[in-house]
Amino acid sequence: MKQRSLDRLAELARGMLAHAYAPYSRFRVGAALESDSGEVFTGCNVENASYGLTICAERAAVARAVAEGHRRFRRLVIATESDAAVAPCGACCQVVAEFGGATEVFSFGNREQASWQLKDLIPHAFNRSQMTAGEMTAGDCRDGGP
Ligand SMILES: [Zn+2]
Repeated sequence: MKQRSLDRLAELARGMLAHAYAPYSRFRVGAALESDSGEVFTGCNVENASYGLTICAERAAVARAVAEGHRRFRRLVIATESDAAVAPCGACCQVVAEFGGATEVFSFGNREQASWQLKDLIPHAFNRSQMTAGEMTAGDCRDGGP
């Protein structure tokens, strides 16, 4: 199993700042997501003129990892040019939590760094076990449901 240092992951996340597409917010974000097997997938934010279509760096990294067959993550490292260490947004926490809550999250700003457990950032993440009560059966369709 590969084990990169946190400094190396931070360096990879910072390297992604150069690729960020953030012409609207000018808030560039880079991410490095480490899978349980030690593979690292990077991402950057990709903004859009239709703001709601913007993709955060963290979710870009998750999409890249999942596309390569990785679904378990031990560390998510983000880097920004802000002085403060910023936490990932709620949407990104939810997306990472889809694959388990054991991920450690690290953030590197210009002056501060911070770390959290994902489960502390999103303690009540929506998950598939909450969907079972709403499952419909063929009978539900026939008789119109409950
Ligand atoms: Zn986000």
